[in-house]
Parts: sequence; structure tokens; C-alpha cells
Amino acid sequence: MTGIQQILPASPLAGRRFRAYTAKHLDALTARAGLDASERLAVRAVATVLPFRTNAYVAEELIDWDAAPDDPIYRLVFPQADMLPEADVRRLGGLLARGAPDDEVRATAHQIRMRLNPHPAGQLALNIPDLDDGPVPGIQHKYPETVLVFPKQGQTCHAYCTYCFRWAQFVDEPELKIATADVGRVIAYLREHTEITSVLITGGDPMIMGAGVLRRYIEPLLDPGLGHIESIRIGSKSLAYWPQRFVSDPDADDTLRLFEEVANTGRTLAFMSHFSHPRELEPGLVADAVRRIRAAGAVIRTQAPLIRSINDDPASWAGMWRTQTQMGMIPYYMFVERDTGPQDYFAVPLARACEIFHDAYRSVSGLCRTVRGPSMSATPGKVCVDGVVEVGGEKVFALHMIQARDPGLVGQPFFARFDPGAVWLSDLAPAFATRFPFESGPEELPGLWDEPILVPVS
Ligand code: SF4
Repeated sequence: MTGIQQILPASPLAGRRFRAYTAKHLDALTARAGLDASERLAVRAVATVLPFRTNAYVAEELIDWDAAPDDPIYRLVFPQADMLPEADVRRLGGLLARGAPDDEVRATAHQIRMRLNPHPAGQLALNIPDLDDGPVPGIQHKYPETVLVFPKQGQTCHAYCTYCFRWAQFVDEPELKIATADVGRVIAYLREHTEITSVLITGGDPMIMGAGVLRRYIEPLLDPGLGHIESIRIGSKSLAYWPQRFVSDPDADDTLRLFEEVANTGRTLAFMSHFSHPRELEPGLVADAVRRIRAAGAVIRTQAPLIRSINDDPASWAGMWRTQTQMGMIPYYMFVERDTGPQDYFAVPLARACEIFHDAYRSVSGLCRTVRGPSMSATPGKVCVDGVVEVGGEKVFALHMIQARDPGLVGQPFFARFDPGAVWLSDLAPAFATRFPFESGPEELPGLWDEPILVPVS
């Protein structure tokens, strides 16, 4: 029996009662993965900057400890020593090893976080809207028809993904958090903005909230005075990290009744479910939870980012899309890892991302091909990398805007020069033009857009 098994026994509760593992369990858990003392110290150092949390279900039902620390689910939830620059890890490790005061560790961690672009795509500066008397904090209005609401009580998750682009929500930095408990102000904003047809409740994970608290945010949206709200989306990884939430938790039935109420008003309740790896779909509990959510009248759409060392192979994606479709879910997005936190560590080059997407897409039936991607959620909007093609003898990326801050650009195709190492929109340079469509400036070389000859590059 390893040390961790003595401290955190693989109890039958793993399947029934939620039990979180946090930074204080990290040393024992990483020992179970076979890490030596200096490796464990380095992981603890990383966890002072980036959040760590997992739970007994993930630890006992999903992680293959025989394969740890290389197991993809282990890598999904456990910080890795090389997620931060070596000098930073050494500095923090030194502080932890000599028992430095908490304030000193916190100040050092803060400095490092500020270098990690904690709020990508201008989330704090660009998307927070106003009412007449001032801003409406805790919501984002980036695209005309969609508003994101960040409930204050929903800003944690059942476990934290190491690659999370919302990591800044979970660290000890109050000024980096986006959250609201002022439902009245959200509703006032929605009443004034009848162009909004869809409200996305997001986090963190809104399903961390009990049914009663969730109701406080959802019920007011069902007011007949908000008839322009056609759909309510909930972004959640609970089907992967804690499916008990819909099956055996004490408020599972109350939660599903709330979903039913949404459907009964004639609106769509879209459950946007995050699955990172096919193994997350294997437990029978997940199938039970999916059945129950669907029986409540909700539709489940699935999405995840493409992450190096976790799911960067076509078989993982094809497997997920097929299983999800078989279970009655709708594959929706493959995202590109965003430009925040340990992006360098997890990023897959866009050219490789296209290959993985297309190889997986080719191998599944038409029903699975509801999925879109690889897509970058960038400052101007959602940019899909359609592929690598040759135009007039030049190898380029073909892209289009799935969603855009400027609605006139939705659907617009454009090209970028091929760059095998590019991992994000900011790495790309326009091809056949001096600027991208979402950049301001005079368009040039219009003749090159006439009659392009597209040749797929194998
Ligand atoms: S579940 Fe979503 S919000 Fe929570 S840590 Fe993972 S990616 Fe981030």
C-alpha cells in the first residue's frame, strides 16, 4: 500500500459522496504517481501559481495510476513541473523548501501569474457591458446575440483542468475574477437588450452550485418579459468530473426538474459538456447522467480543446465523437488551446491541429460531423482553421470566422501565410492582403481574391 492509499483510501465513497483533493493532498497524490521528492516539490511550486483541485471520483475511477505521471487523465488534473519556466519553478521551490512565509510565496506567485496573460481575448477590458448607471460586472457581452453570466457561487469546478483558460478565476487574486451575485442587474441588462437570444451560464462550473442556487440564476430568465431569450446554455465539465450530480446527489432530481421547467417554457436548455478524453465517457454513471439530462428535455453538446499530451491524436477525438453521438450528445467544438497560462506547454501547432481534426472527421459518420474546429476563441471572434491549401502556388492556411465581434465578419473566409510553428492567431500573418478582415486599415491587392485556385495539401 502506498502512502497516499493510507491517507486517502480508495473508498467506496469515490462513487457516491463528493470529496475534493486540494493542494494539501498534492504531495501524497504525486507520491502515488511515483514522483520523487524533488519532482514533488516542483509540482507543489507550480501549484502555488496555477490552481490544483481534483476529487475522489477522478482519482479512483478515471486516472490510470499504473500509467501515471504520463496517464492523460493524470495530466489533465495534476500540474506538471515544466508547465512554468524552470527558473520560476526553482525560485518557488526554494521558497517552499525553506518554509518561506506565505506572503512571500504569494507575492512571487503573483508576479509569475501576471506574465501569463490571465485574461485572454480582452475578457476584462472589452466585454463587460454597461447600464445607464455603470458597468454590469460578472457578465460578458462579446457577440450581439449571446451573453455570458458568471454566477458568484459557480466559480469553482469539481476538478481543475491543468490547461484551463479560466485559471485566473480559481487563484487567490480577487481582482482577476469575473463574477456576479446581482441577478437583478443581469436581468435589467437583458430586458434592455432584446438582441440577446442566448444566455450562457458559465464559470468555473455552474453545476458546482446546488439546485437552489442554480435556480436563483435560471428562474428569472424564464420571465415572459424576456421572450427574446430563446436558449439557456450551461457550460459544464460535471459529466466528466462528477456525473453523480445528475444521478445520485441529493439534489439531482431538483436540478433536472429545473431543466424541465426551462424546456417547458419553449426554450432550449443546452448543456455544453466538456469532455477531454474518451475515458471520461466510459463509466456507466456517465451514460445514466446523460439519459437523465436528455429525459429532462435538455440537449447536450460537447466540446473541448486540443491539448498536447492529453488528446492530441485523431483516435481520441473520433472515439469521443462516436461515443457521444451514440449516447445522444451532439459533438460541437474542437478548440485550440488559448493564449494564456501554460499555453506553451499544451499548445498543438495549428497545422497539426488541422491534421488531427480532419483525420478524426474523416473517420466518423455524418451524424458526428456536427463538430466544428479547430477553432480559436480570440479577441476578434472565433476563428476556424479550415486547413492548409495552395493558392496560386503559395502554401497558406484557409480560415473563416465562425463568430465575430463585428457581425458583418461572421462566415468570412480569409488566408494566412503558412507557418508550421504557429499555435495562435497572433502568430499568423495575412496572405494576399496587408491585413486580416478583423483588422482596420485599407484593403490592398483585391485582385488576388479573384478566382483563387484551392489545392488541398496532403
Ligand atoms: S472544468 Fe472548465 S472551467 Fe473548470 S478547470 Fe476545467 S476547463 Fe476550467
